[in-house]
Amino acid sequence: MKLPMIIVHGGAGKWKGKRIPVALEQVEKAATSGFQVLENGGSALDAAEACTVYMESCGKLNAGLGARANIDGVKELDAMIVDGNTLNFGSVAALTGIQNPVSLARYIMEKTDFSFFAGDNAKRLYEKMIAEGYRTESEPGVVAQSFDGGAKDTVGCVVVDSQGRIAATSSTGGIAKKIPGRVGDSPIMGSGAYANDVCGATATGWGEHIMRVTLSRMIVLYVEEGLEVGLAAKKGMKMFEAKTGSEAGVVVADAKGNYSFSTNAKAMPTAIIQGSINKMTSFTCQE
Ligand code: ASP
Repeated sequence: MKLPMIIVHGGAGKWKGKRIPVALEQVEKAATSGFQVLENGGSALDAAEACTVYMESCGKLNAGLGARANIDGVKELDAMIVDGNTLNFGSVAALTGIQNPVSLARYIMEKTDFSFFAGDNAKRLYEKMIAEGYRTESEPGVVAQSFDGGAKDTVGCVVVDSQGRIAATSSTGGIAKKIPGRVGDSPIMGSGAYANDVCGATATGWGEHIMRVTLSRMIVLYVEEGLEVGLAAKKGMKMFEAKTGSEAGVVVADAKGNYSFSTNAKAMPTAIIQGSINKMTSFTCQE
């Protein structure tokens, strides 16, 4: 049984050896928290949000609480959530002072007529989201982990629920030494993540380069054109490397629950749960 399933990454990059097991533990826990939502009847979107909120709140990955700061020492967060069923998405960029941008991205997608907000005005929407009770806070700026489904370097996931609906997320503090206002690929539809009714993908790595080739959209396109997910992920990474000479990583899943991942970076901690909570596999993707 391949569905439901979740594939989660904790960022592709030059991981220091002793941080890799720490990150692996967190992506495994994030996959579990997302899968529990699926088991309790939650949708792919519910699970993708829960999984990503977990990673934003764990403090060990480059997102939310653990996000890398910009050169002014401020955490400016970018995030996106994509609903493959409707092609709708919500994005936030350069957001300060809150921990869980993925929940705000979902609010933007579901409750506004718009898709993408940045900076202080995005933060105003966060306040509106809390005031309306769309999500509650466990403390100021921190979204409480309570979803309809029950349970409760850049991170991202692709989730396929038992109905074959796909959701994808990405969430990040961005790259080292970024100057204030810099926004990477993570909140850009088709670059940091993409999903439709056939396939979903989410990417991590040097955002300026990922955006040049709209990496996530290209990989999904390869699957739409008939490649199986493993070959599509490899083809995407090969194309990315040939055109940019840069490093990145991707995780991919199709509507039937077939999944794959590929990276040319030193490591990309990745966890997958497919069909049953007892069926977790994880990889460091180390060279
Ligand atoms: N892609 C992210 C960015 O450029 C960074 C990362 O994946 O670690 O903002």
